[in-house]
Amino acid sequence: MMKRFFLLLLSVVIAVTAVAEKTAKRLKPLKGRIVVLTFDDATAGQREVVAPLLHKYGFGATFYVCEFPGFEDKTKYMSWDQIRELDEMGFEIGNHSRSHGQMSQMTRKQIGSETAYIEDKCALYGIPRPVTYAYPGYDNSPEGIAVLKERGYKLARHGGDKPYVKGVSDKMLMPSYGVVDARFETPEFFEKALDEARDGQVVIFCLHGVPDLAHDFVSTSPENFEKLLSMLKERKCKVISMRDLLKYDL
Ligand SMILES: [Zn+2]
Repeated sequence: MMKRFFLLLLSVVIAVTAVAEKTAKRLKPLKGRIVVLTFDDATAGQREVVAPLLHKYGFGATFYVCEFPGFEDKTKYMSWDQIRELDEMGFEIGNHSRSHGQMSQMTRKQIGSETAYIEDKCALYGIPRPVTYAYPGYDNSPEGIAVLKERGYKLARHGGDKPYVKGVSDKMLMPSYGVVDARFETPEFFEKALDEARDGQVVIFCLHGVPDLAHDFVSTSPENFEKLLSMLKERKCKVISMRDLLKYDL
């Protein structure tokens, strides 16, 4: 009787281990030159300029959308119909909060409603519920991070001009390199950053408008943007969205 019980237990353990191994195997190893492109604030031009260029290069990307104060001005910001088109083109729509406020200055309740607003808008437009988040102005708080986890967010983007390093970086505070026109005056910035795209690491770039008609100081010209795209192509980088990273063993 005892022997039969142990044999049964052993076979259960073997079966569970096999399933666990299979699940682990499904994740791709974090190898090669993996680069993530992210675009914030739903600025005009992300649909008309950025998306077609990304398509031309065969690159994936994430668009972190919000309704920045002044969102009504469609010369500066995309419409929700355009945001839906980005989703239909295969790009990821991520959450950048409703009104781009400072997370550290908000209550849990406020953070919840700011986050839910974008989720509801996505649902209304048939866009998948966001699973990744970008902190407005990189500002965050432990309470805010807890709210995001409760709502099912798997990855969140921060700043810092350094790579994501497996086993070291926090998945809810993933570092990124900020890209604006001034960066192109020192091409070493990109060379150094792209050297960090290697096994066990991911380089995430954070861009805004191309160009940014709402906030000049974060603008990247279409010419400079194409320079970045050709650098990524030259180095044979695998350019994906934040959501795509979830397929990897981070
Ligand atoms: Zn922003």
